[in-house]
Amino acid sequence: MTQQADLVVIGGGPGGYEAAIRAAQLGLSVICIERRVHKGKPSLGGTCLNVGCIPSKALLDSSHKYHDLKAGYDNHGISTGEVKLDLAAMLARKDKVVDQLTGGIAQLLKGNGITWLQGSGKLLAGKQVEFTPLEGEVQILQAKHVILASGSEPVQIPVAKLVDDVVVDSTGALEFQIVPKRLGVIGAGVIGLELGSVWARLGSEVIVLEAVDQFLPIADRAIAKETQKILTKQGLDIRLGARVTGTQVANGQVTVSYTDANGEHSEVFDKLIVAVGRRPVTAGLLSSDSGVSLDERGFVAVDDQCRASVPGVFAIGDLVRGQMLAHKAMEEGVMAAEIMAGHHAQFNYDLIISVIYTHPEVAWVGMTEERAKAEGFDVKTGQFAFAVNGRALASDDNQGFVKFVADAKTDRLLGMHVIGPAAGDIIHQGLIALEFGASVEDLQLMCFAHPTLSEVVHEAALAVDGRAIHAIQRKRK
Ligand code: FAD
Ligand code: NAD
Repeated sequence: MTQQADLVVIGGGPGGYEAAIRAAQLGLSVICIERRVHKGKPSLGGTCLNVGCIPSKALLDSSHKYHDLKAGYDNHGISTGEVKLDLAAMLARKDKVVDQLTGGIAQLLKGNGITWLQGSGKLLAGKQVEFTPLEGEVQILQAKHVILASGSEPVQIPVAKLVDDVVVDSTGALEFQIVPKRLGVIGAGVIGLELGSVWARLGSEVIVLEAVDQFLPIADRAIAKETQKILTKQGLDIRLGARVTGTQVANGQVTVSYTDANGEHSEVFDKLIVAVGRRPVTAGLLSSDSGVSLDERGFVAVDDQCRASVPGVFAIGDLVRGQMLAHKAMEEGVMAAEIMAGHHAQFNYDLIISVIYTHPEVAWVGMTEERAKAEGFDVKTGQFAFAVNGRALASDDNQGFVKFVADAKTDRLLGMHVIGPAAGDIIHQGLIALEFGASVEDLQLMCFAHPTLSEVVHEAALAVDGRAIHAIQRKRK
């Protein structure tokens, strides 16, 4: 007998499982198909929970603690003994965090009455879904609605083919069993900087080869410049305009050849991480008569509300246009579920926060100064450093600054950019202000608690009009 459901979701990552839960809350019968087997066990949570956001942040936190302890707390009047690294224990802690969270998602689906089918889903014509279980017979499901949420996978490049545990993608870079002496990273994007930082803190000499000759081109220029300066000081050797031409693995090491403005070079590494972007997973997802169209870049084509080209079929997350971020996938999933349940739902694509979880963290929302100018705004900006913030100084974590970009004509905020302690949390103040259409003056008039890191947000807003208190600003008005 054909199994029926109001909604079949293909993919149980952050986009898929949040869509499934919201649809169940709205009274729909839901089946979620997920095929991932992680460390021998079927697992929900997608890239994010299994091999992405969560394990990378677990290692970023562990490596940060190790690095801090190793540097010592003498200036705090605390002396520590010899600091030793137990990498196996560090990796096991990361695995435990992943297990706890992925197990939690399975409980959430169960508690919401959602059926998790373990295996692969393929969309057929007429909103039928072919389900191939991890074990057993193929079944056909009939759905009223379908959400495609199959996510993304690392881009591979012919000049750096993955080889065992020597040339790896981001997943392999979460599993090194010993700290590589010399680590190469291809790509100075988010993954390159985060995972490069992890291994640099644990003792690797890290060289990052980036094809483009500008560092973090999507970030505000002031933020990108400061980030490059700080990460370089931390030991990341970032080489811009470096085009990898080939790799050769021999005796457990890899020789990487590359060219830059100065000619041809080569470096020998113990491990090489290839982190040059991700691409949507569409292989095996759609039958030839499913009716679902892809765009010119291979993503499932959708409108602003994630509707695909077949009525009743939605696609979300890394599988569709836009930034590949877990929170974007989650909001799209919730939006699609609401729409199919007959509600109005919309999501503001102009206000998606970006965070890079280096130390200090880097985060932004809204327009960069460069984009605002390119869009014709008469731009005014304000910037304030953590260096003189009492709380940041007290906790010995005072690098970076907050920057606001605003419209000089209307005083409306256009963007907020932060490099500094807890930037990934502080940036939500900008998100809320921008979403509510706040002016710079709105922020200036608010009373921020003292002593907090957020006072830098207040000062940066004041600085837009030359009136920051803890800086010599001579503008009189
Ligand atoms: P995915 O999480 O990729 O989930 C899709 C799921 O669908 C997969 O589990 C896959 O097995 C399954 N699937 C695919 N095809 C089928 C099929 N035919 N049948 C059944 N199942 C199928 N983003 C952030 O916002 N913050 C971060 O800090 C962050 N850190 C990251 C760190 C790393 C190392 C990586 C690699 C990514 C990181 N990301 C981060 C990106 C984030 O993981 C993705 O944007 C997010 O997981 C996308 O969610 P999704 O639901 O669209 O897809
Ligand atoms: P990315 O797009 O952030 O960076 C890839 C970098 O590789 C770019 O700078 C690109 O110019 C460079 N590159 C491309 N081809 C190259 C080549 N042949 N040689 C040298 N450099 C090359 O991609 P990523 O770092 O792989 O991350 C993939 C996705 O995962 C991103 O979209 C990101 O949003 C997401 N992610 C997010 C977070 C986070 O939110 N903190 C963390 C990790 C990953």
